Amino acid sequence: MSISKLSHAEAAEQFIKDEPRTDWHDETLWFVRQKRDKAAHGLPEWEKLREWASQIKDHTLSNLDNYLKEFESKAQDNGVIVHWAADGEEHNRIIYDIITHHKIKKIVKSKSMLTEECGLNEFLHAKGIETVDTDLGERIVQFRQEAPSHIVLPAIHLKKQDVSDTFHEHLHTEKGNNDPQYLTEAARQHLREKFIESELAITGVNFAVAETGGFIVCTNEGNADMGAHAAKIHIACMGFEKMIPKAEHLSVFLRLLARSATGQPITTYSSHFHKPREGQEMHIVIVDNGRSRQLGRADFRNSLKCIRCAACFNTCPVYRRSGGHSYHTAVAGPIGSILNPNIDMRANADLPFASTLCGSCSNVCPVKIDIHDQLWKWRQVLVAEGYVDTTKKIGLKGMAFVLARPGLYRFAGKAGRAMMRMFPWLLNNKLNPWYKQREMPAPPKESFRDWYIKNKQQ
Ligand code: SF4
Repeated sequence: MSISKLSHAEAAEQFIKDEPRTDWHDETLWFVRQKRDKAAHGLPEWEKLREWASQIKDHTLSNLDNYLKEFESKAQDNGVIVHWAADGEEHNRIIYDIITHHKIKKIVKSKSMLTEECGLNEFLHAKGIETVDTDLGERIVQFRQEAPSHIVLPAIHLKKQDVSDTFHEHLHTEKGNNDPQYLTEAARQHLREKFIESELAITGVNFAVAETGGFIVCTNEGNADMGAHAAKIHIACMGFEKMIPKAEHLSVFLRLLARSATGQPITTYSSHFHKPREGQEMHIVIVDNGRSRQLGRADFRNSLKCIRCAACFNTCPVYRRSGGHSYHTAVAGPIGSILNPNIDMRANADLPFASTLCGSCSNVCPVKIDIHDQLWKWRQVLVAEGYVDTTKKIGLKGMAFVLARPGLYRFAGKAGRAMMRMFPWLLNNKLNPWYKQREMPAPPKESFRDWYIKNKQQ
């Protein structure tokens, strides 16, 4: 899997070079957003559900230590082995130890953004252990050695022709045949074999229930169930924010999750795991990896309410037109831009700036995270901590200086309009990043202020 080393702006510049693909990406995700709207508007109690979900998560985060302990003890009573990992490295080592202890050779994995965050596939690959991703989209990007570009639709950046070429290369399907049914059947046959051979299955966790010690994995393909039921060992990996107090709270979250993610009334498979079946071994790895730090940041604590529905991705005009890989992190999009600076501020300092701050993300978020406010707050933290480049700092300081002086502001406006009229090439040239993708507007004859003063008596 390759994650881009370019900044968001640089990688986005590459992505938008292919204009038809960019338009198609934009429209496809907008279509998912519209499906979400239709499903949400179909439920009169939608806003109530959002409010409940937000409050349940607030309460859980405030009592997380107790709920985690309760979950651990109930899971252990159920015969599950519980591990705690402080970071991605420890998470990977725990899984590696289980694999080597049992001398496992064949591993299947269903979609888990946490294992992407921890770089599990690469870690195991470096040790000579291959893991087969069984979610169709994940398998496609795994063949292509790419990272998922979306947390729900990992291969959304690819067209069916790309999938056909990939399958032709790896599964020897007919060259040029891009019939979705034919390609899906080829994937089904290929993955069926992997499931049958597998000795160990790794899954993610969507929700962990403190009162029962059980956990829920949601998939549309049934691949988590298939993997967990065919293999002798099941390892479930979860960030500690997946906790909810009671089983009855699932009715709130499951209704919100599927509708927000894809506009479906319910995810096709919501599988409830409680204990290992006879002869099986079940492990849960609970991971921190910076989450405690985020919990302690008052302005950003709410980001841990996220249920990874990706509604904020699908609505974001920047995500839709820059593609998931431009975010160079496992979790992209607006929520990724809040979570990732916490993990590595220097490496991810560009991400909170990849937003128009339009607020559409906060508007659709099923757990009411104030996403755009947090993006704006991260910008302030990054400037204060010195992670913003000098040009941007000088530019913003200059702008603050002018905006604080009305006389100077008026003069600058007048001079700017005159310059744009007399020397348009000063702005309309390739050195101006704005001009690269936009036509500069024709300068108005007068400012709004002048127009207003002239017309206010009418
Ligand atoms: S931040 Fe909200 S909208 Fe975005 S993925 Fe998380 S729950 Fe969904």
